[in-house]
This record gives sequence, C-alpha cells and structure tokens, in this order.
Amino acid sequence: MIHVNCPSCYGSKTEVFFRFEKAPVQSVVVIKSKEDSLSLPRKDITLAFCHDCGFIYNSSFDTDIDMYTGGYEDQQGFSPTFRKFITSLTSRFIEKYNVRNKDIVEIGCGKGDFLALISELGNNRGTGIDPAYVEGRLAPDNRLKFLKEFYTEKHGELPNDVIVCRHTLEHIHATGAFMNTVRNSLTPESRTVLFFEVPSIVRILKSNAFWDIFYEHCSYFSPGSLSRLFRKNNFEVFDLYLEYDEQYLFIEAGMSVSPEKKHPLEESVDELWSMSKQFAESVSKKLDEWEELLNEYKIIGKKVVVWGGGSKSVGFLTHFDRLKVIKHVVDINPHLTGNYIPGTGLRYKSPMFLKEFKPDAVIIMNGIYEQEISSMLNEMELNPRLHSL
Ligand SMILES: [Zn+2]
Repeated sequence: MIHVNCPSCYGSKTEVFFRFEKAPVQSVVVIKSKEDSLSLPRKDITLAFCHDCGFIYNSSFDTDIDMYTGGYEDQQGFSPTFRKFITSLTSRFIEKYNVRNKDIVEIGCGKGDFLALISELGNNRGTGIDPAYVEGRLAPDNRLKFLKEFYTEKHGELPNDVIVCRHTLEHIHATGAFMNTVRNSLTPESRTVLFFEVPSIVRILKSNAFWDIFYEHCSYFSPGSLSRLFRKNNFEVFDLYLEYDEQYLFIEAGMSVSPEKKHPLEESVDELWSMSKQFAESVSKKLDEWEELLNEYKIIGKKVVVWGGGSKSVGFLTHFDRLKVIKHVVDINPHLTGNYIPGTGLRYKSPMFLKEFKPDAVIIMNGIYEQEISSMLNEMELNPRLHSL
C-alpha cells in the first residue's frame, strides 16, 4: 500500500525523494537462529516529503507487520557514556518542571529503564505502557507499574503530571492520529507536561547517515516538523533541543496557551526540502566510499567487525552484507549476545570475543562511543584501525 497523504498533517502535497531497496523489516527483534535471520522479510523504504508540514515518512510502509510482540532488545543503559548522558538530561528536566513526588506515564517504556530513573531521581511514581515490556529486568520498585498494551484515550485516566514518550513516535506510522489520541486523553484544563524524544532527521540528512534509515523507523522528524505536529494537535511547544551530538531531538509541550508561538530551532519546510534533495544526491557517493574501503579490506584479507548492534548496524549492513567482509557484530548488551542480526545471518558477540578474534578494523556504529570502545580495546591489548560513523 502506498500512503499518499501525509500521515502527520493529512496534507496531499507529498513527494517521494529517496528509495532504499530490500531492507530487513525488523532491526532489534530477538532472533535465535541463522535461518530465521536470513528469512526475515525485506521490503523497500520509500521516503516521501510533505510540502505542507515537512514530515518525512516511508510511504510504502507495511502497517500490518507485528514489530513488538516477538521479543525486542533496545536497552542502551549498558554503556557508561549513555548512562551519564541520560542521568544528566533527566536531572535537568526534573529541575525545570519541578518533577518531584509526581505521577509519570511513559508511552513506549521499553524495559522501564527511563521510568525507573526519573522515579529514582525525583521520588516520582510511574506507569509504563508498552506491548513489548519484559518483566524482571528492573529491580523491584513499588512506585512503578507496567501495562503491556498500546496507549489509548482511556489511559488519560491514569494520574499524569508528565507524559514521557521516548524513541517511540518514529516507529508509529499514523503520527497525526497518535498525537490526536494523546490530546484526547487529556482534558483542556490539564497541566500535564509532554516530554518526547525522537532521532533528528536533520543530522541524518546533513551527514548522509544512511545507516540511520531503516524499516522500523517509518517516521522521521525535524525540529520544525515535530513542532508543527504538536501545534496541529493544540499543544504549545515549551522547549525544543538537540542532544547527543545532535542525534536526538527533544520536545517539551503542554496544553496550548500561545498556539502559534514558534521556537527558534524550527527550520522552515523549504529549508528541510533543500536538505532532503541534497541527501538524495550525495548519499550514493557515501555508499560508494564505504564499499570501496570494505572491498580493500576484503582483497588484503583483513578481519573487520562492526561494534554496536541494533538498528544502526542493520541499517549499515543492509548495504554491504553481500560483500561478505564483515564477519561479526559486537555489542555490550548481554541480552544480545548469541542472538542473530536481522537479515544477515551474523551473530552478536560480546566485546570479550575480540580478544581472541583480534580484528584489524572496527567500524563503530555511533561515534559518540569511540572513546569508551577505544579504552575497552586498549584493555584487551588490541589496536585495530577504528572507523566511526
Ligand atoms: Zn504533512
């Protein structure tokens, strides 16, 4: 099915500007055998741009795929770099809105790590809503409860001083309908603060980060398009900012008092369209450069591994898997070790595996972890060439 009208603002001035063929439809699903990894369905990603609101989405996305009930591994908290970042960010948010002894609802809470953190730091109570929630990953905490379901209007009855939604909106195809549900779950008098986080498409477009475009992410937001979606649903944007090397985009919002107020970080629809056209032109050059490098490694018989599992590695390997030069993917999440990477048939290894494998080159899927990875390699007395995305 082709989604012609914009799923965010329902406008009809949409235009396809880029296509990736045959991407594995899932990237962080738990896969236990090589056969299941290789037989994972592949479908095209057809990026369309909405000239009304600037929303970018996969216009050929198959909304019938069940992404989340078969096991989902997306915890980031095993990295010290990430833990430091998320703790400082959460403390800042708590200070800003005095989120202490409050009730938090988190839509798409994953394994509950963030809810546990914000409850711990501000002595808050929390309800996490996520069909992919897994019991037993967190230390027992009677301030927290979890509902294994999708968010609906009835969840508005839960006490909610804050509604958190991190790294979830980009997985939702019908973003306009979803924000309408969030809006309708609240009363007009509500003082609830919304705290949402998504990857920023601006960074992806500007740095030709093709590995950040994968099937599970059907929706891509910029500061401008995200704010326009919130305003269309009668929310006022309180603040908007980029974090983590500008990879993550945050929005804080609430019931509208000044509905038309714009934030300085918002770019115009035309500016985003120029970036999108530029991306479409230059990304194939970037793909060629990587292919050349990997081919060189292959010819001289070097051992190459990817460090960093999950979506980025699937997004990266999708393009180079056929070269058969990358033999292993390493990740520090112990729940990934031994599982298979969707689509490629490769298996996740723990970092300790490298001690014996002695790689000649390590491709780091997120440059922000370079220092952390480099010191782990040093401790193992390894000195491979590092390439960071
Ligand atoms: Zn639109």
